[in-house]
Amino acid sequence: MTRDARATIDLGALRHNLAVARKAAGGGRVAAAIKADGYGHGLLRTAGALKDADVFAVACIEEAVPLREAGYRHPILLLEGVFEASELGVASRLGLDLMVHSPWQVDLLETERLAAPVRTWIKVDTGMHRLGFPPDETARVHERLRACASVSQPVCWATHFARADDRGSDYTRHQIGVFNDVCRGHGGLRSLANSAALLAWPESRADLARPGIMLYGASPFVDAGHERPPLRPVMHLQTRLIAINRLERGDPVGYSGTYRCPESMRVGVAAIGYGDGYPRHAENGTPVLVNGRLAPLAGRVSMDMITIDLRAHPDARVGDPVTLWGPGLPAEEVAAHSGTIAYELFCQITRRVRVEEVDGSDTDG
Ligand SMILES: *Cc1c(COP(=O)(O)O)cnc(C)c1O
Repeated sequence: MTRDARATIDLGALRHNLAVARKAAGGGRVAAAIKADGYGHGLLRTAGALKDADVFAVACIEEAVPLREAGYRHPILLLEGVFEASELGVASRLGLDLMVHSPWQVDLLETERLAAPVRTWIKVDTGMHRLGFPPDETARVHERLRACASVSQPVCWATHFARADDRGSDYTRHQIGVFNDVCRGHGGLRSLANSAALLAWPESRADLARPGIMLYGASPFVDAGHERPPLRPVMHLQTRLIAINRLERGDPVGYSGTYRCPESMRVGVAAIGYGDGYPRHAENGTPVLVNGRLAPLAGRVSMDMITIDLRAHPDARVGDPVTLWGPGLPAEEVAAHSGTIAYELFCQITRRVRVEEVDGSDTDG
């Protein structure tokens, strides 16, 4: 038995989730966010499965180059634009769309001579207060970009939401209002929605939605009370039991003995740990599936192993499959027990984990 920590990526689930995004977008276009190595699922793998997207969205030029090298002709949006002058020439040559979020980026566009003009998106800070121009500075930025030979016309408009994952908050509606005021009367495409906004705030769809996490099958919402969107999990992270210990009442399990057996019981050891990207902060009671049925973590996550309370699994044997997240166990549920979000769980899978592809049917789910 080789060490069997593996992540199975379901390409059919990616296509299914893109179809869900497309439906939510109404007639609007969809940019598939495949930054950070396709949220840990593999850049070219996700691009291939999501090739029906209208646009690819990545964080930086290093993530766009492999897409062009692989032959993708889609528009590619650099969500943070360029990081230095030398990237403008590459962006022009590769036909990349640039977010423009800061005055220094406008300066660069005015200074550099480009072989072909680039499409730019003015990033408006409507309340996230991370990247973008304050609403009262956008008119001046727009004037400058309109007059700039390196910029194709019309200039486009974008913003990003801070709380779209909280359906109880009014903040997204406020941000949409600020954005519409800024863009009023101007031409150019408009792009606002991440996954959460696309699913919860139809008025944010506009010309181009930018879903990410929903494509990977995780619900973007923090308010777990609501119905899950009809998404299919893409990553199935699994391993096997490599040992089973019979322990006595009061026996401590693992580093620092943070779990003590409440009774005589069996504790399983599974071959996966934080060295594989399983979150070290997963607390006692974090759910895993043993043979497809729920079982709780018992004791701290180690680098190579986790320990599992097998009291409800009298038939479990060494070699049995253990699911960390995937079908039957949403990653966001594991994240909630680990002080993080599904985004981070996906991104932190390490190279030690074997990756396999499957192509599940598009029709169910
Ligand atoms: C990552 C990102 C997205 C996608 O967000 P999700 O929450 O994963 O849907 C959209 N827009 C911008 C600017 C981003 O950085």
